Amino acid sequence: WAKSAGRGCYAVFDPARGRREHARAELSAAIPEALAAGEFFLDYQPIVPLSGDRIDAVEALVRWRHPDLGVLSPVEFIDLAEDDGHIMALGAYVLMQACRAARRWYDLDPEGAPIISVNVSAVEVADPSWLTRVEKTLTETGIPPHRLQLELTERAFMADDGGPLAALRALADAGVRIALDDFGTGYSNLAYLGQLPLQVVKLAGPFVQRIRDSAGATDFVVLESIVGLTHALGFTATAECVETRFQAEQLRALHCDTAQGWYFHRPLTEEGVTELLEGQRRDRHGSVGGTV
Ligand code: C2E
Ligand code: MG
Ligand code: MG
Ligand code: MG
Repeated sequence: WAKSAGRGCYAVFDPARGRREHARAELSAAIPEALAAGEFFLDYQPIVPLSGDRIDAVEALVRWRHPDLGVLSPVEFIDLAEDDGHIMALGAYVLMQACRAARRWYDLDPEGAPIISVNVSAVEVADPSWLTRVEKTLTETGIPPHRLQLELTERAFMADDGGPLAALRALADAGVRIALDDFGTGYSNLAYLGQLPLQVVKLAGPFVQRIRDSAGATDFVVLESIVGLTHALGFTATAECVETRFQAEQLRALHCDTAQGWYFHRPLTEEGVTELLEGQRRDRHGSVGGTV
């Protein structure tokens, strides 16, 4: 498990690309200019129901098209941005771009449009200006709160002064879906889960990847209990990093609700998602009455 205990499932991009410790500071300092130059962009990975076919949500995943280093994974720069405060501007940009894309998908097909799911750093949530910014972005883009999901890791809920929790409660009360990301990689204190303003628990990739033919019975028992606990608390269970049909079938058998992973869809461009949604809409019309 240890290898995958950080962010994401594991780095999708070549980790050997030229950066060393001294280059990290340089990379970080370049973020504001890179933002202004439009070097950051989003991919979108669909989250699908395990029973059913309509896409439930798409998760926005930020990438940096660096002029010298090529396309960088968020694993390579989110931590840096958190350390020096650039995460506030980067997070604002991501949320705005994601909501704008969501708005375009909604305008294309209000009935089939997916929820937009955006990763938020614990550092952002702890900032007193964050809540207002989220509300403002929703208003400006015309996205109703219930069409936005925010993904946070446990760290975001654990600040001592309770400020983040209050902000998340306010958003949840307004209808925003709050998802606990990477559940199972951190301390995962089960007792406090019920106290959080959550709607969704995302089971971390390493959990899901323990499902293989050779997996022991305990792996399934543990997963089944976590899905059961999630449901008992009234939350939805999403599995991350589903790579095989076997994993998808097992998760369905465990009554996991939704899933995300290469088995279903890789992260796509906005246009890629648009095409998927158009296909989905054609199917819907086709199966209803043959009209297109
Ligand atoms: P995450 O939120 O847990 O996102 C899931 C990660 O798993 C993504 O990596 C995704 O590309 C990858 N993934 C999806 N399906 C599969 C699969 O089947 N197998 C494997 N091995 N991997 C899969 P990515 O895009 O590199 O993002 C890594 C992490 O960076 C994210 O983990 C999230 O914590 C963070 N991140 C990404 N975008 C943002 C952002 O806009 N803001 C913040 N604060 N963090 C972000
Ligand atoms: Mg992750
Ligand atoms: Mg996430
Ligand atoms: Mg995750």
